[in-house]
Amino acid sequence: MPTHVWDYLPEYATERADIMDAVETVFRSGRLVLGPSVHSFEEEFAAYHGVRHCTGVDNGTNAIKLALQALGVGPGDEVVTVSNTAAPTVVAIDAVGATPVFTDVHPDTYLMDVSQVEAAITPRTRCLLPVHLYGQCVDMAPLERLAEAHGLVILEDCAQAHGARHHGRVAGSMGHAAAFSFYPTKVLGAYGDGGAVLTSDDEVDRALRRLRYYGMEETYYVVRTPGHNARLDEVQAEILRRKLTRLDRYVADRRAVAARYAEALAGTDLVLPATADGNEHVHYLYVVRHPRRDAIIEALRAHDVHLNISYPWPVHTMSGFAHLGLGPGSLPVTEALAGEIFSLPMYPSLPAGLQEKIIAVLRGVL
Ligand SMILES: *Cc1c(COP(=O)(O)O)cnc(C)c1O
Repeated sequence: MPTHVWDYLPEYATERADIMDAVETVFRSGRLVLGPSVHSFEEEFAAYHGVRHCTGVDNGTNAIKLALQALGVGPGDEVVTVSNTAAPTVVAIDAVGATPVFTDVHPDTYLMDVSQVEAAITPRTRCLLPVHLYGQCVDMAPLERLAEAHGLVILEDCAQAHGARHHGRVAGSMGHAAAFSFYPTKVLGAYGDGGAVLTSDDEVDRALRRLRYYGMEETYYVVRTPGHNARLDEVQAEILRRKLTRLDRYVADRRAVAARYAEALAGTDLVLPATADGNEHVHYLYVVRHPRRDAIIEALRAHDVHLNISYPWPVHTMSGFAHLGLGPGSLPVTEALAGEIFSLPMYPSLPAGLQEKIIAVLRGVL
């Protein structure tokens, strides 16, 4: 049996009755779109984070896109973010007509190097977009000071950080708005696509609800600007409601997997993940670093263990972003990382025996 970095089937085997009950509940409800399950999930997800509002949307990319639009970010505006992220972060910025401006990342955590943000701010900057990558939060206090001083909004990209905490605050409760993805691999994953935006700003939330529903507040009438069709699916919402009650357990299980890796791989020449001060990591990905990364991946493949790289190409070096005019050499830490990082299998239901096998193979290869 091949081993991959992620597999939901062990989890489905234990949760099947609940998942199928969620599907049946929606199918029997008589409401297939924006019904009671989306409504309840929005209330429960907002409550989990201690924020006023949640708007369910169809995926994480549109969560970022609609959040930017609801926050008033558009053509001509600059958004400060990172290039060491999933491309959709930057795709969404581009999609609203704004320009991404990148800082490099910190060499220990691979997260936004917040000491570089001030220098990236220009008169056109409207938004700071920290990405809580791999499962831990960006250092928020310096961003909050800069946002205050320069009149900027903060949008958190929480697609990899469900349940993560930062000096006691939960990811998604710190910015003016926060975007989540429920893509199946994520810490809170649906059985298909899904996303959400959190905010405690009533006006921003109203704008989000319009934007996901063609631009309408009431059916058949577009009020201000044309929006999108970007609704969270009712079936996925009901599944997410069930899984939200287990989120803290998923996180605890991920931490146990991470602890086993850390113990078994200490003393090898792999650079293991570092958790920044004040962070409670949820280990969406277990990202390690080694100069002979490609040879290690190749050797593990021979044992039918298939690793992954998140991410092999910094966004600014992709041909699809050539219009940004940022060639190789512009973000040295990000570019060096991309050649050396790789991810070990990580999901809450990873069987302990399988993890032992992965560790044994990996230690042999090292
Ligand atoms: C997954 C992800 C997204 C996009 O989410 P989708 O639901 O796949 O559209 C955005 N940002 C980050 C950091 C992600 O990991």
